Amino acid sequence: MLNIVIVGGGAAGFFAAINVAENAKLKGLPACIQILESSGSILKKVRISGGGRCNVTHHLYEVRAFCERYPRGSKELNSPFSQFQAQDTVEWFKNRGVNLVAEQDGRMFPDTNTSETIIDCFTQAAEKAGVEVKLNHKVNMIQKNSSGRFEIQIQSGEIIIADSVMIATGSSAFGYQLAKNLGHTITELAPSLFSFKITDNMIAELPGLSFEKSEVKLFIDNKKPFKEKGPLLITHWGLSGPSILKISAWAAREMLHANYLAKLKVNWMGLDRIESVLNLLQKLKLNGQKSQIQNIYPEELAKRFWLKVIEKANIPADKRWADISNKEIQTLSEILFATEFNVLGKNRYKDEFVECGGVSLSEINFQKMESKICPGLYFAGEVLDVDGITGGFNFQNAWTGSWIAAQNMFLSPT
Ligand SMILES: Cc1cc2nc3c(=O)[nH]c(=O)nc-3n(C[C@H](O)[C@H](O)[C@H](O)COP(=O)(O)OP(=O)(O)OC[C@H]3O[C@@H](n4cnc5c(N)ncnc54)[C@H](O)[C@@H]3O)c2cc1C
Repeated sequence: MLNIVIVGGGAAGFFAAINVAENAKLKGLPACIQILESSGSILKKVRISGGGRCNVTHHLYEVRAFCERYPRGSKELNSPFSQFQAQDTVEWFKNRGVNLVAEQDGRMFPDTNTSETIIDCFTQAAEKAGVEVKLNHKVNMIQKNSSGRFEIQIQSGEIIIADSVMIATGSSAFGYQLAKNLGHTITELAPSLFSFKITDNMIAELPGLSFEKSEVKLFIDNKKPFKEKGPLLITHWGLSGPSILKISAWAAREMLHANYLAKLKVNWMGLDRIESVLNLLQKLKLNGQKSQIQNIYPEELAKRFWLKVIEKANIPADKRWADISNKEIQTLSEILFATEFNVLGKNRYKDEFVECGGVSLSEINFQKMESKICPGLYFAGEVLDVDGITGGFNFQNAWTGSWIAAQNMFLSPT
């Protein structure tokens, strides 16, 4: 009988356990598959993910394009995604009665719109496949004994013996320590997917206002700026929304080093050149000669925001468009094309929040998700130095790594 232990009852751990148990059954291999979970509950992040709806994956079935959504891991994930990608995830859930549907921006959710559907699917599949889930089993230490098997020490003092082990402990500091003790390197850790703290009159009193097509540029210590496009949201604390979360992921380590102080330029309408903004405003002037500037403005902007723009440009709100000078149009265009803000820190705003950094990717065989340092040891999910931008990419990393490991964990270690 093979003993397979998965450390961590989160997204990666559950997906791995189910698949390895189903595979073992299919191949007629007698195996005992256990999930050891430190806390009193399973799948905690899955439950709260995507605002309680669980953004399971992203509707993007082209592997190379999918890989580009990972600030860390993009090169290494090419091979794993060629084995199991978003389309396979959709199929996997479909075969277990869960339909994933894509929203306009590509994010995929269960059609019931609740993460409970995913949790129910996992718990039922795990039970059916005979996976044993042990709660309140915090793993303190993993080591190999003289016969090459793993000894897993639980906080209670209990020792569990396993033929192969997966560490799927997410961003837990303890998990990184387990990997370190087995000879692995942990790369520099930094939060990723966070909002920016900004205090500026331009966005004061406007929380909740969103801009569908913004482009943002982040300048840190005179280095080449980071750029992102997408919806932007004004919050009570500053700026958030997909474009900010994504840029925070690309700049996660640089922002940490800069103590979260940076300059941000926002192109509110996302137009490609300042001339396009100038032309738009010239047209408004032509058509709205007799109207006050406060009443005629680009249709994609809210009036509350436009009033801030004209205030910043020092133009009286009741001035008629006919009296607006070319210089004033230039100033308005500059504000709309590149309002500059000082980023004063980071904060979380009901966001997806992941860790950048983890087990060094050069130490993993991505064909199998097995350690190159310690045969029989596998990794999947956030414990690795892999993180994606917002949109379902972090879960897909967990599903893919776990699925691949599950094809290999009951074979003899390399
Ligand atoms: C608020 C929020 C919303 C999110 N929404 C999304 C989303 O919609 N889409 C998306 O793609 N990603 C989302 N993410 C990211 C996603 O949740 C993670 O990338 C994913 O959960 C990682 O899976 P994992 O299994 O590696 O880690 P986790 O899901 O964190 O699971 C790790 C498990 O290991 C256990 N553990 C830790 N140490 C030990 C130990 N020593 N012994 C035993 N057990 C241990 C932990 O208790 C935990 O249960 C979100 C994250 C957050 C915080």
